[in-house]
Amino acid sequence: MKSYSKKSVHRNSRFPHRFSALLDALPDVIFHLDDRGRFLDVYSEGDGGSCRLHDRDVIGMELDEVFPVPVARRLKRAHTEALRHGKLQIVDYGMKREGKESNFEARVIPAEAKGTPRRSTLVIIRDITADKHSRDYLNLIKKIFEDATEAMLIFSPRNEKVYFNESFCQMFGLECNEKPGKRLEDLERFFAPEQFSVLKEMIRRNGNYHGEVTVIRPDGSKLSAWLNYDILEDGEKGREAYEIAILTDISELQESREMLRFTATHDGLTGLPNRRMLLSHLEQAVRRSERNNHSGAVFFIDLDNFKYINDSLGHIAGDAVLIECASRIRTAIRKSDIFGRIGGDKFLLITEEIKSPDDLMHLASKIISVVNKPFYVGDLKHNIGASIGVAIFPNDSTNRDELLQYADMAMYQAKEKGKNRYQFYSNSLDRKVKRHFLIEKALRYALENDGFYLVFQPQIDLNTNVLTGLEALIRIDEKIAGPLHPQEFIPIAEESDLILKIGRWVFQRCCQRIFQWNREYHLGNVEISINLSRRQLMDESWPKFVEETLNKYRLDPTKIEFEITETAFMQSQKTGSRTIEQLQKIGCKISIDDFGTGYSSLATLKKFTVDKLKIDKSFIDEISHSSTDRSIVKASIAMANAMGLKTVAEGVETDDQKRVVKLMGCKEMQGFLYSEPKRAAEILRLLKEMKGKSEKK
Ligand code: C2E
Ligand code: CA
Ligand code: CA
Repeated sequence: MKSYSKKSVHRNSRFPHRFSALLDALPDVIFHLDDRGRFLDVYSEGDGGSCRLHDRDVIGMELDEVFPVPVARRLKRAHTEALRHGKLQIVDYGMKREGKESNFEARVIPAEAKGTPRRSTLVIIRDITADKHSRDYLNLIKKIFEDATEAMLIFSPRNEKVYFNESFCQMFGLECNEKPGKRLEDLERFFAPEQFSVLKEMIRRNGNYHGEVTVIRPDGSKLSAWLNYDILEDGEKGREAYEIAILTDISELQESREMLRFTATHDGLTGLPNRRMLLSHLEQAVRRSERNNHSGAVFFIDLDNFKYINDSLGHIAGDAVLIECASRIRTAIRKSDIFGRIGGDKFLLITEEIKSPDDLMHLASKIISVVNKPFYVGDLKHNIGASIGVAIFPNDSTNRDELLQYADMAMYQAKEKGKNRYQFYSNSLDRKVKRHFLIEKALRYALENDGFYLVFQPQIDLNTNVLTGLEALIRIDEKIAGPLHPQEFIPIAEESDLILKIGRWVFQRCCQRIFQWNREYHLGNVEISINLSRRQLMDESWPKFVEETLNKYRLDPTKIEFEITETAFMQSQKTGSRTIEQLQKIGCKISIDDFGTGYSSLATLKKFTVDKLKIDKSFIDEISHSSTDRSIVKASIAMANAMGLKTVAEGVETDDQKRVVKLMGCKEMQGFLYSEPKRAAEILRLLKEMKGKSEKK
C-alpha cells in the first residue's frame, strides 16, 4: 500500500506555468480525493481560504480532519455517491468563515487519479455567500411583487419586457397572463383620454407621476387608484432602464371620504343639507344676488306642536313625522331651491331670483298647506302646523348670520300671532320678539363664558326655627344683558335645548358647592332643593347625569330634592314619569313646586309618593285678607298632612303670614321674612353663625 508523504501544497512545481497562473487566479478551492476520501492533492487554495487549506499540510488527511464534522460528512457522502454513480454531485452547505456565516457550493466530480488505478474525485468548492444573498433577496422581491395587493407593472423598454403581478390583472380587469402592453402608451385604453394625456405629459416632463387616477376596465367598470409612476434611469448611460407603475386601490377610502363629507354636511335623519351646509349656501346665494342684482329669500320654518308628538308618541314616531314633513315640503318648492334641516323641527329654505313678494307669499302658503295635511301614526291621525319667518336679501341684510336671525325672529312673531302662519321680517318687529332674541343670545353667552351663578334661599322649620333646607336659584351676571330675572329667562331657555344645558350647569355647580360647604361645615340634615323644568323631565339622560355627578362629589342623594312645578308634574308623560321614578330610585326626593296653580289629582300625587308640597306664593300673598285663599291653603295642608307629605309655604314676607300658615299646620316656610336668596359665601357665614348659636345654648 502506497503511503502518502505529507507535503505542503505547492502546485507551481507540478503544473506548467500557464496553468499555475490560471489556478492562482481562481477564487475556488480545488482538491483531489482518493477513493477513501483522503486528500491526494490540492490544486487551488481559493481566494479567502474557503476551507483554510493554505495553512495546513493536508495531503493524506481525512475530510473530517480538515472540515468541521457535519461538512466533512456531507462531502464524504457526495464523494461516495459520485464514485458509485459516476456522476457529478453538488452539495450546498453553510460554514463560518472568518467569524461570518457563509455559504459554499461543493462540486464533486468522479475522476481517475493520474497514474493510479484507484478511482478518485475532484472537488471544487466555491464561496456562494454573495450569490445566495442576492438569490434570497431576488426571491423575496419576487414574492413581494407577486403577492402585493398593489397593482405593479414594470416596463423595460430597452429589451421590450414587461412584468406585472396578479393584482395588476385584477385591477385592470385582464385575463390571467393577458399582457397589458410594452410601453406606457399601451395603457391608454384604461384611462379617460383627458386624464391619460395629462398623465403622459407629466411623466414625460418630470419623469414621474404621483396622483389619483380612475382606471376604466375593459368591461366599463371604474375604479379609483393612487398611481406612483417612476422612471428609473440607467446610471451610466442616462437612458431609461425601467418604468415602474404602482397602483393602490383607493375606492374604499374615497367612499368613506365621501361618506364623511356627506355626514358633515347633511342631516342624518332626513338626508337633507344640515345647518353648516345651509349657511354656506346662504352665503353664496347672497353673494350671487349682489352680483346679479336679483333678490332672494330665506324661510325659517318651525313646526307647530311637534314637541307634543315627540313627547307623547316617542322619538320614533317623531322622526317619522319629520321625514314625512321634509318630503312634503320638497314637493312644494322648486328644484333649484335649497332646502335643509337646521335641527329639531326647524327647517330652512333658500330661494333665489324671486320676481315679487307675491311669489314668496304663495310659496309660504303652499308649504303651510302641505304640512297641515294630517299625519298618521299607526291608526291615529295627527295635525301639525308650520310657522314661517321670511327675510329677504339683499334688502334686509347681506350678512348671512343676520339674515338667519331675522328670519328666525319673524318666525317667532308668526308663533306669537297664533302659529301656522308666515311673517315677513321688518325693522319694526315687535319689541317683545327682539327682547326674546336678546335674552336667548345672553343665555348662550353666559353658558359659554361662565356668566351664571347660584344663590340659595333658606327654608325654615316653623316650629323650631331651625334651617332645614336651601333652594338653589339661578342668576345671570348683570354685565351680560342688564338685570334679567329667572322668571323671564327660564321660559325662554325652556323653548330651546338651552334649558338642558343650563339645568346641567346648575346641578353640577350645586354639587360642587355642597362639597365645599361640607368640607368647612358639616351640613348635617340640611337639604338642597333644585328646580327641574319640564324639558329636563323629558331628557332621558338626566337621571344618569345626576347619579354620575353625585358620585363624582361623593354626595348623599337623600339630601338632594328636585322641585317640579305642579303643572309640569301633571303634564309629565311616560318619559317624565320614568325620570321621576329613576331619580327616586337613586335616592333623591321630589317636591311639588307652586302647588295650587295647577290641577293635580290626588291620584297622581299618590302614585308618585312625592315628599313635599310647596304652596305657591300667590296664595300666601293674600292669606291674611282673602278667605278663599285661606281655605285653599288650609285644605292643601290638611290633605298633605293626611298623605304624610311635608308642606312648605313659599314667599312668606310678614309675621302675620307666618302665624297663619303655622296655625294651619304647615311645617316649613321660605321667604323674605327669614331671608332672601343669598350667594354661597353668605350662606356659609349664616350656617356657621347658626352653629355658633346652637353650641352656646
Ligand atoms: P320658584 O321655584 O317658585 O322660586 C321661588 C322664587 O320666589 C324665587 O324667585 C325667589 O327669589 C322668590 N321668593 C322667595 N321668597 C320670596 C318672598 O318672600 N317674596 C318675593 N317677592 N319673592 C320671593 P327667582 O329666584 O326669581 O326664581 C323665579 C323662578 O325661576 C323660580 O320660581 C323657578 O321657577 C325658576 N328658577 C330659578 N332658578 C331656577 C333653576 O335653576 N332652574 C329652573 N329650572 N328654574 C329656576
Ligand atoms: Ca322652586
Ligand atoms: Ca315656587
